[in-house]
Amino acid sequence: MLGSNPNDCADSSTQVPDLSCRLCGKEGHANTTCTYQYYVPKGEQVGLGATLICTCCKKEGCHPGTNDWVGIAVPNYCMICGKRYAHRTEDCPRKQGMEMVGDQAACVGV
Ligand SMILES: [Zn+2]
Ligand SMILES: [Zn+2]
Ligand SMILES: [Zn+2]
Repeated sequence: MLGSNPNDCADSSTQVPDLSCRLCGKEGHANTTCTYQYYVPKGEQVGLGATLICTCCKKEGCHPGTNDWVGIAVPNYCMICGKRYAHRTEDCPRKQGMEMVGDQAACVGV
């Protein structure tokens, strides 16, 4: 088959820094240097790879209707893919697929 892309093999050698930040969704710095991991300005959104939580409760959306809290962005982590800065486990696109093929995986000999 001629369909294999040689670039696909190169993703484990991360020598080129990724300068599009998944924490804040902005470009120009890497995830790990983002200031949103320490402080998210009021009214700002976090990036698709992160969740905005409160520093005191460690929860998202815990102080509705008040500004008396400080938000930080924490990277999402998927226990199914093992990826950070992507989606959360409950949002994993593979999750529904895995549940649907669950019956098929019953190959355990009794
Ligand atoms: Zn950032
Ligand atoms: Zn809180
Ligand atoms: Zn996932």
